[in-house]
Amino acid sequence: MVVSGMPPYDDENIFAKILRGEIPCSKIYEDEFALAFHDIRPQAPVHALVIPKGKYVSFADFGSSAPAEFVHGFNRAIAFVAQKLGLEETGYRLIANMGWNSHQEVPHYHVHILGGRKLGAMLTPSQD
Ligand code: 5GP
Repeated sequence: MVVSGMPPYDDENIFAKILRGEIPCSKIYEDEFALAFHDIRPQAPVHALVIPKGKYVSFADFGSSAPAEFVHGFNRAIAFVAQKLGLEETGYRLIANMGWNSHQEVPHYHVHILGGRKLGAMLTPSQD
């Protein structure tokens, strides 16, 4: 699906390659809906990425075109991963960047799980 502001899905994006096993990742969890692994440039003591096993460029694409069962399974995987990482008690932040203004770098929908310390304000002043 083409979502406003985003190109169509590119099979050569880095997360597609990780899903196909062409590029290694530090895996945390995998099921039929999702793959979770540690971010290569962590922004917090715990920084995981959860990606759906499907060709979705962004949250907008995923939310509008993934089957309901898949959306449900993916969201459950995120919650499970956060718990598995020991973040349930102290809390965590989920981020899903979508499009240019968010600086989405990888055009395969993904959710960041950040935790392991107090994360402070949700947004810092723009650096543009
Ligand atoms: P975005 O800005 O698209 O929301 O976030 C993309 C994230 O993917 C960034 O935090 C970046 O560090 C991470 N990333 C980019 N390439 C790789 C990679 O090859 N392996 C892993 N594990 N993370 C990556």
